[in-house]
Amino acid sequence: MLPVAGRGVDDVLAELALKRERDVDWASGRAFGMVYDGGPSVHEVAERTAMAFLHENALNTKAFPSLGSIQSEVVRWTAGLLHGSATTSGFLTSGGTESILCAVLAARERGRAERGITAPEMVVAESAHAAFHKAAHLFGITVRKTAVKPDWTADVDAMAAVLNANTVLVVGSAPQYPQGVVDPIPEIAALAGSVGANCHVDACMGGFVLPFAEMLGRDVPPWDFRVEGVTSISADVHKLGYAPKGVSVILHASAELRAYQTFVFDDWLGGFYASPSIQGTRPGAPMAMAWAVMRHLGVEGYLALTRTALETADRLRAAIGSIDGIRVVGGGAFHLVAMAGDPDANGGPIDVFALGDALQRRGWFHDRQTPPDSLHSTVSNGNAAVLDDYIEALTESVAEVRDTTAADRSTNYATLE
Ligand SMILES: *Cc1c(COP(=O)(O)O)cnc(C)c1O
Repeated sequence: MLPVAGRGVDDVLAELALKRERDVDWASGRAFGMVYDGGPSVHEVAERTAMAFLHENALNTKAFPSLGSIQSEVVRWTAGLLHGSATTSGFLTSGGTESILCAVLAARERGRAERGITAPEMVVAESAHAAFHKAAHLFGITVRKTAVKPDWTADVDAMAAVLNANTVLVVGSAPQYPQGVVDPIPEIAALAGSVGANCHVDACMGGFVLPFAEMLGRDVPPWDFRVEGVTSISADVHKLGYAPKGVSVILHASAELRAYQTFVFDDWLGGFYASPSIQGTRPGAPMAMAWAVMRHLGVEGYLALTRTALETADRLRAAIGSIDGIRVVGGGAFHLVAMAGDPDANGGPIDVFALGDALQRRGWFHDRQTPPDSLHSTVSNGNAAVLDDYIEALTESVAEVRDTTAADRSTNYATLE
């Protein structure tokens, strides 16, 4: 029961501080995921913006035109980074999942309106994010899931084999989350186009990395609106865009395609109701923080953060490769790294779940995933300063668990309660 008597502000904050004692220490760079730290000035601009916009509501941008302008600028800036055209249109959402829900819904609605499809299907590789399955579950779409190739990228031939007249959407990821590799987007887009289906590129992770990686001269496969046939892209500002949680961008190649994701209702006693996304009331603070962080960093700021994140990921890959018993899974070249036991190791493979437990005892947190059993790192700027400490902990932990198997085989990308 909610206590009858309230408590003073300081007491409330002290109670909350106690609750946080066992939380992962992200601020010291010890979480390889979930929190992406752009450094002190990024914190400052986000925190001051949050205080200024904490109470604002983007439900009605007539009341808060600032949020309308913030949304359209973040959308335009992102479209520019992703080489959209003058017709590229989008919205801000609460995160990658909501952006994906919007893209899937838009594909279903377009299929119904333009092709008369009443039993919609979508084609995804097994590496596509779980949010696509959530969207299919919510929106009544049949998922055709295909195996990946040995290099972990989507197998376009396998996708073609399950494509049919009911296909409303074909998905590619840039990069996919589990192993961090970029799918063959031009082939996927051409496949989608062959039946008039949408092609969504999930760049929730890569949207604020790949544009800068390309500017830094890294080899980036084609993935954005320069690819013919890409109809929508999701890019999370709250990941490597370095804004605090609660904001992502969904972009469509045209305003007509965007119109399939919106809901307009004019037969309610409450009046005209137009909704761009899944939410009703939309907090203004995450949108404003996204704007503020992007405005603060500019392209130059992102280039510096991206260089640090990618160089840190390179060092991590090299370290894993040099330790007997573990290996990097796949040939990902960006900021996502999956580490597994190495069957070819002299001493045999390490059980990486036991390794994950040993690292967690030392204060380092990874997501556990399978198949194959692996520990996932999303490397960002925040991990750079402590990477040497991490490599030391990794070396020690591998030695510690060499003959150990973890009893708990569960994985943990996301949890209930
Ligand atoms: C994080 C992520 C998502 C989902 O985004 P949320 O912000 O967690 O809802 C989707 N796709 C990829 C590739 C991701 O990394």
